[in-house]
Amino acid sequence: MSKSHPAFEALPPLEELQSVPTPAYLLHEGKLKQNGKILAGVMSRTGCRILLAQKAFSNFNLYRTFSPFLAGTEASGLYEARLGKEEMPEKEVHVFCTAYRQEEFEELLQYADHIVFNSPGQLKKFGSAAKAAGKSLGLRINPECSTQEGHAIYDPCAPGSRLGTTRAQWNAQMTAERIALLDGLHFHTLCEQDSDALEVTLKAVENTFGDILPRMQCLNFGGGHHITRPGYNISRLEQCIRYAQQTWGVTVYLEPGEACALNAGFLLTRVLDLLQNGDTRLAILDMSAACHTPDVLEMPYRPPIYGSGEPGKKANTYRLGGPSCLAGDVLGDYSFDTPLREGDLLILGDMAIYTTCKNNTFNGMPLPAIWVRRENGATEPLVTFGYEDFKNRLGRTTLDGTN
Ligand SMILES: *Cc1c(COP(=O)(O)O)cnc(C)c1O
Repeated sequence: MSKSHPAFEALPPLEELQSVPTPAYLLHEGKLKQNGKILAGVMSRTGCRILLAQKAFSNFNLYRTFSPFLAGTEASGLYEARLGKEEMPEKEVHVFCTAYRQEEFEELLQYADHIVFNSPGQLKKFGSAAKAAGKSLGLRINPECSTQEGHAIYDPCAPGSRLGTTRAQWNAQMTAERIALLDGLHFHTLCEQDSDALEVTLKAVENTFGDILPRMQCLNFGGGHHITRPGYNISRLEQCIRYAQQTWGVTVYLEPGEACALNAGFLLTRVLDLLQNGDTRLAILDMSAACHTPDVLEMPYRPPIYGSGEPGKKANTYRLGGPSCLAGDVLGDYSFDTPLREGDLLILGDMAIYTTCKNNTFNGMPLPAIWVRRENGATEPLVTFGYEDFKNRLGRTTLDGTN
């Protein structure tokens, strides 16, 4: 994979990366801004409002890179709502949580402008308090329209899903009083998809909730729109937005996570050891798939690696794995033109999303530092981590040293 691959278009000169201690994530300010401009274009042409879904990318030091291009942030609960309010304070804060807790709700009202509930029961429990606090309220619906294959854990429309209110649930539980509390509806059913899937989903939304929508002020299309991916059909997205605006008179929101920070980061890692087991050549890296790129194992997917090819494509094929004890801590099989050597730098692409906010210290694995490549060309650390970060999430040592 070369610089022509979208994940490596923004790759800084390799000489500049050699001095970065590994493992380290490297976020790319210019690419974040480029993504922001694409999203801002959709907003300005259609009048829709686009939020950063923080669960995909919450490196708040870079929020001010985004904020000129976005309408605000979207949160999955109290902490992300607080982060959005603190770090992008001049913009809207929306929150969707599958179930809110009584003891957190009052605090949540300090941060969130728009609160989306998952069920009629949650709306009943918290709706009046939120309304009294002047908040705008939404309900997540489930249009029961699966448009993705293969990733069942990412399909909120799968049978028996707990995410969103189906029309049958709505009919059984939504009294006129509860409907009157609502300002908007919300659906989130896509994952890394193009606007054809949105078009199909929007039809399903119309078929299931079309009679309700004219009463609403807003409709949130959720996330999963791969808007900043080369080849994504933006004009069809804009047609969908205009259709909703014109048909139901709603303000349309989108809350992409991936699309905000797509291809805007790298993970730098070095080879610690090389071994051979039978016919398999192995390289142990100083990063762990299980700890530092958990989606590689969970989703699962094959991360792009700079200068590599499919196994067997180039002369030297290796199975790349992490230093943890997990047998499955493997990135995959990759081939290279020249044999790998201890200390070689490898660069994984598209590493700004679902990484820094999702990593962990399993096996006592150090958290990679987070670096940034500034627009002016400077490459500098944002934050580094150490032993205390591992220890402090497991317990507290008292001041006198006793436990
Ligand atoms: C995950 C999620 C998003 C963001 O999804 P992406 O695939 O990162 O665009 C937005 N809204 C909700 C409710 C989500 O759960």
